Amino acid sequence: AKDLGRNNCQIYSSSMDATSYQSFFMERDLRKALIHDEFTAYFQPRVDARTNKIISAEALIRWKHPKYGLVPPSEFIPLAEETGLIIPIGEWMKKRVCELLVKWREEGIPLVPISINVSPQRFLQSDFATCVRQILEKYDLNGSLLEIEITENSLMRTEEYVEQTIEELKELGVKIYIDDFGTGYSSFAYLKSFKLDGIKIDRSFIKDISSESENASITSAMINLAKHLKMDVIAEGVETVEELNFLKEHNCHHVQGYLFAKPSPAEEFQALLAEGLNL
Ligand code: C2E
Ligand code: CA
Ligand code: CA
Ligand code: CA
Repeated sequence: AKDLGRNNCQIYSSSMDATSYQSFFMERDLRKALIHDEFTAYFQPRVDARTNKIISAEALIRWKHPKYGLVPPSEFIPLAEETGLIIPIGEWMKKRVCELLVKWREEGIPLVPISINVSPQRFLQSDFATCVRQILEKYDLNGSLLEIEITENSLMRTEEYVEQTIEELKELGVKIYIDDFGTGYSSFAYLKSFKLDGIKIDRSFIKDISSESENASITSAMINLAKHLKMDVIAEGVETVEELNFLKEHNCHHVQGYLFAKPSPAEEFQALLAEGLNL
């Protein structure tokens, strides 16, 4: 909550003693934001570094605040998690992504799977997979067009239906990735209990990577682990050619980061899908 307070103050006030007061107002504003449709989805491509083709994209939420402008998720997701508002916010995102996939399909844009960040709270509800199935049916979308990113925390609890949820998503063709891989407190045990599709190596391990660094050992170990488990591996937050070269040399070809493209609004991303990346 310390983190949250600091983030709160950045946009809501510069006084550090007003934390609870501030989050009270932010909670109120978040509720309004849902009613007044103030959220927007940005999209960041994931690229196959061998071909520079877009293979999928991550949907990232932004809040178009009437007073403070575009608010990044780091400023409001923690409070949304704390207050349970992450549930309706997540529903909003899922719907928005489906609407856009339908729109792009109608306009003849070549589609790629879109990946959604799912909060542990939502993933651990027993009806998660059923709701995904329903929305796919409603929009007449194939499950292979949707991917989800969950953190290791979503797998630390062993509710019996977690296995069922994963199984049901698999049946739908919805791929599951472990986000921020390596940053959680969890053990590797879940990797053998659950059939997951891939891992996303956290940016903290990619940053300033060079063959001599500790990050280099950790990252290449993660890539090998994924390979042996027959999982896909995506490196996130790739910013430099040096980082990219390291990853390519270590057989990690699925990359995402500012080096290729920053997250952009739907219209801009649609143009990238239609025309390809200009690298
Ligand atoms: P994340 O899932 O780890 O997303 C990656 C973050 O890294 C994004 O920040 C993205 O804009 C940023 N990023 C991508 N490439 C680079 C790069 O090359 N360099 C640097 N420095 N950063 C890069 P963003 O969009 O601010 O999102 C922050 C976090 O908020 C996400 O982290 C995710 O945990 C959460 N989030 C975003 N959208 C949603 C959502 O719809 N639902 C939920 N539950 N969480 C979301
Ligand atoms: Ca993510
Ligand atoms: Ca991540
Ligand atoms: Ca991260």
